[in-house]
Amino acid sequence: MAEPLLNVCNLKKYFKTRDGILYAVDDVSFSLREGETLGLVGESGCGKSTTGRAILRLHEPTGGQVYFRGEDILRYNKTKIKGIRRDMQIVFQDPYSSLNPRMNVQQLIENSLSINGVRSAAQRLARVREIMEIVGLEQRLLGAYPHELDGGRRQRVGIARALILNPKFIVMDEPVSALDVCIQAQILNLLMDLQRRYGYAYLFISHNLSVVKHISDRIAVMYLGKIVETGDSRLLFAHPQHPYTKALLSSIPIPKVGVERKRVILTGDVPSPIDPPPGCRFRGRCPNAMPVCAQQEPALRQVGDTCVACHLYDNE
Ligand code: SF4
Repeated sequence: MAEPLLNVCNLKKYFKTRDGILYAVDDVSFSLREGETLGLVGESGCGKSTTGRAILRLHEPTGGQVYFRGEDILRYNKTKIKGIRRDMQIVFQDPYSSLNPRMNVQQLIENSLSINGVRSAAQRLARVREIMEIVGLEQRLLGAYPHELDGGRRQRVGIARALILNPKFIVMDEPVSALDVCIQAQILNLLMDLQRRYGYAYLFISHNLSVVKHISDRIAVMYLGKIVETGDSRLLFAHPQHPYTKALLSSIPIPKVGVERKRVILTGDVPSPIDPPPGCRFRGRCPNAMPVCAQQEPALRQVGDTCVACHLYDNE
């Protein structure tokens, strides 16, 4: 089997705050192959967006390794990391706030070409027109400003900006969360079509499991800075093992008249990532918690169809 395009090992991102250290991403590991989508899901504040940004070094990681095509890019200096940015891009959640309101569509999309040394204005314009065609943006919008576009078109500009340098890997940070449901479907279909045509690898970050299920080959579930379960998308949806994954999945309606899922309602508060409890971080909300859960942090390991971090499976 081919080497992974991206290999994230024991990634950590801690922030110093007035109240102590915030453990936003704490020992996260996964890999991603060309043309593959890994869905990273969890409640807001669990560290999934910080993970995406730490991989791209938009937040400088506290520890770990990020191997891209076999090289640890956390060891790269500023000049070298600029070079790798061509291959590693990001699409943000809110296309409106991520686009400079004073730039028109052409300027927004061609900006990275100028930064990366494409001096010829004619070449830049030709590439902008080409990428607009690819992402389904009408050419008449070249001179339009962000406030003149609807949400779907604004996000297409965000996607065009990310794709203009022909990247290999793209962090999709909640790319459809700010859009209407029918526009969400259009953008998801566009992303899947682009992946089929150009082989992009996506880290698809979302709090919405239905969206992630639609687009992901594999899924990683995050809770309070840690991955608690990961595996093939179909298998994880069919046989979730971690109590947190089960609770998340139970909230998705089954699209069949008269069929309902038994909803698992989580009680208890999400602990602060500034002072995570010892042992399993989920134990304050877990319906299956046992004494060992307060003493030992469960390790992520293969159990049946998925990898899971939970003491319920210690004897399997
Ligand atoms: Fe629940 Fe314990 Fe498993 Fe944590 S380790 S999810 S507290 S059973």
